[in-house]
Amino acid sequence: MDTAKILTKFFDKTYTEIEFIKKTYEALRQLGFNDENSIAATCICRDEISQSLRSIIKHMWGEAFNLSSLAGMFFAGKTGLAAAMHHAPIEGGKERYVFYALPHIAIDAEGHIGICKRMGREGESVACGALNAFQKEMAGGRVNLMMDNEDVEQSLIRMRLLREIPYGHVPDLLELTRITQAAIQADLENTITKVVDVKKSNYAVITGIQIHGADINYIWPSSCYAVVDGERISLRV
Ligand SMILES: [Zn+2]
Repeated sequence: MDTAKILTKFFDKTYTEIEFIKKTYEALRQLGFNDENSIAATCICRDEISQSLRSIIKHMWGEAFNLSSLAGMFFAGKTGLAAAMHHAPIEGGKERYVFYALPHIAIDAEGHIGICKRMGREGESVACGALNAFQKEMAGGRVNLMMDNEDVEQSLIRMRLLREIPYGHVPDLLELTRITQAAIQADLENTITKVVDVKKSNYAVITGIQIHGADINYIWPSSCYAVVDGERISLRV
């Protein structure tokens, strides 16, 4: 089965990463954002197979501020977001920021969730490894809720995502990835309301899930919108 067909089993629509970044760039260009007046920021997993997205964003928007943590969680917080602000050029009295925030998941050629190949390695690998580890703990009935100072980001993943999962329910990796996407978006939006002054800044929030297909990476778009002069405008993506 070809990759596009497999992806339609799980996602209502997908784009290649390049198509997705071009589409969002074009939609935002019509709202006054461009590579010369805007700064992009990314919140994606640390996994090297996720970094192609940063490369494409760099190609379209220029170097992006990095808000990323394991699994693409938004743990940079108010301090991290405040650091990203006040960096963009001021044009027409406004700064402009574009936030790309996406967790990731692999789907192999047979449609197996979470499975990918890594270059130069035999056998199967998993993505997202951090979410998969957490999912395995839930399935095993034992989740460590302590803050482990030697494993800070994974501890935060458990604490944050358990708030979104009904007690006793064990989501599979795809459902957990969707839950993660919603949590990342909610945390980023909550922090934006506290840090970003819409009188001074226009911004965009671009969210979805990055999918490692058997051939290349794809994006399932979720919420994509801009806030221009304080008014929210949906992007047609
Ligand atoms: Zn990951």
